[in-house]
Amino acid sequence: MKLNPKLRGPGWFLALALMGVAAGASVEAQTTPKAQEQSESIDGFRDTPMLPGKPWHLHDPDRPQPRVVTPPTTFSQGAPAPSDAEVLFDGRDLSKWQNGRGEAPHWKVQDGYLETGRGGGIRTRGAWADFQLHVEWAAPLPAQGSGQGRGNSGILINGMYEVQVLDSFRAKTYPDGQAGAIYGQVPPLVNASKPPGEWQTYDILFESPRWNEAGELIKKACVTVIHNGVVIHHRYEFAGGTDGISREVPWKTLAKYTPHPPEVFIGLQDHNNPVRYRNVWIRPLGEYDKP
Ligand code: MG
Repeated sequence: MKLNPKLRGPGWFLALALMGVAAGASVEAQTTPKAQEQSESIDGFRDTPMLPGKPWHLHDPDRPQPRVVTPPTTFSQGAPAPSDAEVLFDGRDLSKWQNGRGEAPHWKVQDGYLETGRGGGIRTRGAWADFQLHVEWAAPLPAQGSGQGRGNSGILINGMYEVQVLDSFRAKTYPDGQAGAIYGQVPPLVNASKPPGEWQTYDILFESPRWNEAGELIKKACVTVIHNGVVIHHRYEFAGGTDGISREVPWKTLAKYTPHPPEVFIGLQDHNNPVRYRNVWIRPLGEYDKP
């Protein structure tokens, strides 16, 4: 039997009493030293707000770890851009990007890849409302650090909505912060991570949120993400902006929406870990038959 650590009410003790065991002893007996050690080593927070409608805290280390799926060797890795796509990074040219001050980024470009550097993230000069985005990334090798310090970067859509980039290959952190998580909201459906140093792909379909003229949210931001050929989000509706990446939603506070135009930029996060990127392209979602 698996005890749900979230059950805290009298019913929990009653259930244990009915089983004829002492609560503390039961928990100890059913937690092997190894499992306990792993559990204790997962970074996260239990003093954060509860996620609406969920039995988990924001960035909760006790939230179940997604199942591990070994991804195919290749999927869209190295995929050339379709004819109606805009190539954002071809391995050499960073002219489609700027830093937070509108200047040319100083991140290192060599051997066909871009490596995140200090001084804040970079973002595209262009913006798109609803789009298909292809990104390839690799976590640092040898792996360094643990939890959120292990190959942390992120795809920061409009600097508001993060698809997490992290080394989650045989490495644990709070599940709403692991690779492919919609940071602070939902873990990926499964963990399809590749080892650090190997190129990984994100194919992201994003629909921008919309507000009416009265300023009411009429359509939430929506995302589908394929990680290394494996669907890890299917039309997930954002609860709002990600915590910790914009002024509007401070870290460890619940996601919320802040109105903005539908056209959004693509950001790459600087989290002081040297994550590599290559082959980035974007194409607007089609509007066939739109009057
Ligand atoms: Mg991140």
